[in-house]
Amino acid sequence: MPEAQETVLVIDLNALRSNYEYLRSKIPSSTKFLAVVKAFGYGSDAVEIARFLNTLEVDYFAVAYVHEGVNLREAGIETPILVLHPQPVNFTACIENCLEPSLYNTRTLRLFISEAENQNLNDYPVHIKFNTGLNRLGFREKDVDLVVSEISKSPAIRAKSIFSHLAASEDMKEREFSKRQIETFDKITDACISALGYRPLLHMCNTSGLLNYTEAHYDMVRCGIGLYGFGNSQKENRNLKPIASLKTVISQIHNIEDGETVGYNRAYTAKGLMRIATLPIGHADGIGRQYGKGKGYVTIHGKKSPIIGNVCMDMIMVDVSNIECNEGDEVVIFDPENTAEALGEQVGTISYEVITGISQRIKRLYIRSGF
Ligand SMILES: *Cc1c(COP(=O)(O)O)cnc(C)c1O
Repeated sequence: MPEAQETVLVIDLNALRSNYEYLRSKIPSSTKFLAVVKAFGYGSDAVEIARFLNTLEVDYFAVAYVHEGVNLREAGIETPILVLHPQPVNFTACIENCLEPSLYNTRTLRLFISEAENQNLNDYPVHIKFNTGLNRLGFREKDVDLVVSEISKSPAIRAKSIFSHLAASEDMKEREFSKRQIETFDKITDACISALGYRPLLHMCNTSGLLNYTEAHYDMVRCGIGLYGFGNSQKENRNLKPIASLKTVISQIHNIEDGETVGYNRAYTAKGLMRIATLPIGHADGIGRQYGKGKGYVTIHGKKSPIIGNVCMDMIMVDVSNIECNEGDEVVIFDPENTAEALGEQVGTISYEVITGISQRIKRLYIRSGF
């Protein structure tokens, strides 16, 4: 990997391939693989990730919102795309772009059916979301009759899949709860299938569900964080590799004296002679103010250097008093060894939030080899 000369997010597509192959190896070959590429591919780049995963023949993509799906279509991605959380105002664009909506309540189901009927569609694929305990989106078990009758009444749509989402798939202390969710899903899907008279695809597992609940793989898994290299456990982290490395450089070094202060609001006061480095990355880039005042750190020539004072919009200052370094040297914010997960732990958050928070302002670089 070449040395960074500015702030860059380096995305290792070889790592993405190996994560995909690992996750795929955990499911039967007949089970479909849906890659979740919402939120810019978990903060990397949805289009590049989707293009690359297409070469590995994933079966489906998912995004959260319609405009994310439109971006993929405009980039030429032709794979089926499930939109997990569409709003009715975007149903026309959804259909125009061959995006398949998740319909999660009576309102979205009825509005989508009327849009599909207005456009004289036939058997347009939709995905019916059931709530089995997360209490976020989805119909309830008691809604089965209503859902089936609405779908069956209209030739305009067809239930391509029925799905649900686990509330605590990564938490082995919640195994009993997850098993109850799976049982509820079985009851719901049995009832739907017999009333519909055909069998839609069934799916329930995110990354941790895939890894921890083999009995719930059904026809497809929906995998996000694992592809990006995090397994939500130390054990699984060893089988995966973070695909994104966030790097920057030292813009300037200051030698400051005892009692001098650093940054806005003079939030840091030097204790004795110090050497501090200013880096071109700040809260507008996704390194939030919570990382300031010594909570967060960067790594320079393998040594940890704390962020001092307040995080600025475009800069942070770090303490390099004990690190041999020069202006222009490379700085690691996170990489496969100094992980985004470990950085997030410093401020009470998880890998998901750290990586999806990296702003689109930062330049993306791709590593790929052997193909
Ligand atoms: C984001 C999301 C996923 C992916 O979850 P990971 O834990 O990142 O694998 C799967 N299903 C739904 C409904 C989601 O919203």
